[in-house]
This record gives sequence, C-alpha cells and structure tokens, in this order.
Amino acid sequence: MSEPSTVQAVEGLFSQTPEGPRLLGSRCANCRTPYFPRSETCHNPECERSDMQDDSFGPAGRLISIALQNYPPPPPTIASDPYVTYGVGLVDLPEGLRVIGRLLADDPEQVPVGGNVALVIAPLGHDAEGREVLSWQWKPI
Ligand SMILES: [Zn+2]
Repeated sequence: MSEPSTVQAVEGLFSQTPEGPRLLGSRCANCRTPYFPRSETCHNPECERSDMQDDSFGPAGRLISIALQNYPPPPPTIASDPYVTYGVGLVDLPEGLRVIGRLLADDPEQVPVGGNVALVIAPLGHDAEGREVLSWQWKPI
C-alpha cells in the first residue's frame, strides 16, 4: 500500500527546512520591515527605498488571542469530517510579525493565552482527491 499523498493548502507560504518548519515571507533590506506572506514592495510609509528580499520566520511564537471555530468553515477551507471545533490562534513572532493559524490542540479552550507556541506543518484534513492537505499550525509548548 502506498503512502497517502500530501498537498500544501497554499503553495509557497511555508516549508519544512533542515532547521525545522518556517513561514516563507520577505523583509525590506532598507527598513527591516518583515512581511508574511511575501510582499513585492515595502509598505512602510516611512521607508524611502523598497528593497525586498526573501526571508523566513519561526518557529517560536507567543499566543496572544484565541478564537473558537465552532462550525465548519465554508470551502475551500479544509475541515475534518466529522467536524470537530478547533481554535484559531493569533501569534506574535519575535521577528516582528503577527500571524493567524490553526491551533494544534485537542481542547483549544484549555490553551493559555500568553503561552509559547511552536510552528508546525500539520494536516488540516483531506481534499476531494483524498490527499492530506498540509498547512502551518501553532502547537502550544
Ligand atoms: Zn522598507
């Protein structure tokens, strides 16, 4: 039996690197402003010369807010079947970004706001072709 194939929920937003999972973004080399996802130009109104370069972020972050997704989100969002409520976390990264992602926790109501989280690449569920759909998620640590 072959391994189930996997697909990224959105290509080019994250990668499993030799150092671990990372979000793929960019940073302005002139003013050091970070962006996720990548940006073609710097949006800092005080920056006088956009000079965008690829950068990557994570894996450490701090959870600053949680929302509970109590009903299945509409397609194309992938949800488990049968549906199980999950948490959506707002996470501050030390690189200067604030990134939303699904919380990888059995009981999101027990996850402490203010606690540390780690970036992980994990399945959201399966697509119509039966492939495992992967995305970045935040795991409480
Ligand atoms: Zn800039």
